[in-house]
Amino acid sequence: MGLEEKLPSGFLLTTVEQAAGWVRKSSMFPATFGLACCAIEMMTTGAGRYDLARFGMEVFRGSPRQADLMIVAGRVSQKMAPVLRQVYDQMPNPKWVISMGVCASSGGMFNNYAIVQGVDHIVPVDIYLPGCPPRPEMLLDAILKLHQHVQGEKLGVNREQAAREAEEAARKA
Ligand code: SF4
Repeated sequence: MGLEEKLPSGFLLTTVEQAAGWVRKSSMFPATFGLACCAIEMMTTGAGRYDLARFGMEVFRGSPRQADLMIVAGRVSQKMAPVLRQVYDQMPNPKWVISMGVCASSGGMFNNYAIVQGVDHIVPVDIYLPGCPPRPEMLLDAILKLHQHVQGEKLGVNREQAAREAEEAARKA
């Protein structure tokens, strides 16, 4: 159906916040960042069969300065943790994180001293994606859920500070 049929009056009303949300979700650029086997599924998601380009985000950026989405695809070793945090810090705000697979989300089967037991110890996570490895369809689903979240996000909110305040409130409760 054409836009003219959807909008017979020819008017489209929205808010600045909704327009900004739509623009942000429609042009998200993931950072090139793969840590283990889950990254193979992430790369497959970006290839022709699953066609991430449909959602305006096929270009994985080589520089964190040009990226606003970090997909943590794979286990995070203790040695890699500071590097991951540095990449995150170099990404401009607003930015989002998907934790892909059980290893990234909780350490998975690697319950040992060498692996971070959940990447949320290092960076704030917006979406946790289960599976070992999650299939490309699951990553697409996580991305679409993140898009919904981004679309509804308030402007001017410092997300890290809000997360810290929520944590603080939960501790006091
Ligand atoms: Fe590899 Fe499975 Fe861990 Fe993903 S969740 S990094 S596929 S072991």
